[in-house]
Amino acid sequence: MSGFTTKSQRRILVTGAAGFLGSHLCDRLLASDPDVEIVAADSLFSGSRANIEHLRDHPRFEFLRHDVTVPLFCEIDEIYNLACPASPVHYQFDPIHTIKTSVNGALNMLGLAKRTRAKILQTSTSEVYGDPTISPQHEGYLGNVNTMGPRACYDEGKRVAETLFYSYRQLHGVDTRVVRIFNTYGPRMLPEDGRVVSNFIMQALTGQPITVYGDGNHTRSFCYVDDLLDALVQVMDLPQSDGMPVNIGNPQEVTINELAKLVIELTGSRSPIVYKPLPKDDPMQRRPDISKAKAMLDWEPSVDLRDGLMKTIEYFEELLMRAAQRRIAAE
Ligand code: UDP
Repeated sequence: MSGFTTKSQRRILVTGAAGFLGSHLCDRLLASDPDVEIVAADSLFSGSRANIEHLRDHPRFEFLRHDVTVPLFCEIDEIYNLACPASPVHYQFDPIHTIKTSVNGALNMLGLAKRTRAKILQTSTSEVYGDPTISPQHEGYLGNVNTMGPRACYDEGKRVAETLFYSYRQLHGVDTRVVRIFNTYGPRMLPEDGRVVSNFIMQALTGQPITVYGDGNHTRSFCYVDDLLDALVQVMDLPQSDGMPVNIGNPQEVTINELAKLVIELTGSRSPIVYKPLPKDDPMQRRPDISKAKAMLDWEPSVDLRDGLMKTIEYFEELLMRAAQRRIAAE
């Protein structure tokens, strides 16, 4: 603990707090310890106020509309640096701002950690492996990333951020932790951010065609949000860390075709599957090797894809129902 808080309080900064993962993390941290106070920062570029609305009057929760590309001065004990648009639609909208968010955001948050002697955790990504040539991907794999493609702003930005975390640790002794997050899904994903899970569920529930990009034989491995958060918090809470990256994800690998069929089955939808061109540089396979996380944390994901998808489907059903009620009320 850095010594800025008296008694046993822990002030924790969560950047990207209004996003899908950030908002769940705030809930989790507040529920886990009555001495935790959250400073929740978000620019609201891809985050949504609705995700943190229920925390607005919470006595240990404070929201700051703040873009991490701008320095932030506050007294803090721990920093979870999540801020960055994470879906291709959002991060490709303004690639330069995406790079600034990863790189300047990391510099600003590491500077804050250095000044306050806070522990800091970086949410890196499986995208640092690019379109991997090995499977599963272990932390020692150096990746296959295109510097000049549509995904480069995100991938390279996150790679530089890891290097900054490494360098601040080496040079200034900052207590850093780096997790590489693989595809994660669950309630509070945005219905229109173009991710495969949210797209397929929304399409299935509204009777639209399910859009599979490419031939659908490429793979991803999907981790339910609760499993991901268990690991994230455990990594931060480790008494010591070597600062080196650790993969967090679910190794259960499925093809995009299999996912489409599963969503159709679970929703009871009659939507047809249609095939669209595969976006450039879309990775052909992705599956985490989580042996390091298992050994370090005594952790492994426990939510099966079917169960996690059912919970996510219920969330989107509820969203659609509320939208329909609002439409009726407005008529
Ligand atoms: N995808 C798809 N249909 C969609 C949205 C995505 O087939 O409507 C594919 C996408 O091309 C990628 C995979 O699903 O191969 C996962 O996409 P997502 O954007 O969710 O995550 P990422 O590509 O960043 O892993």
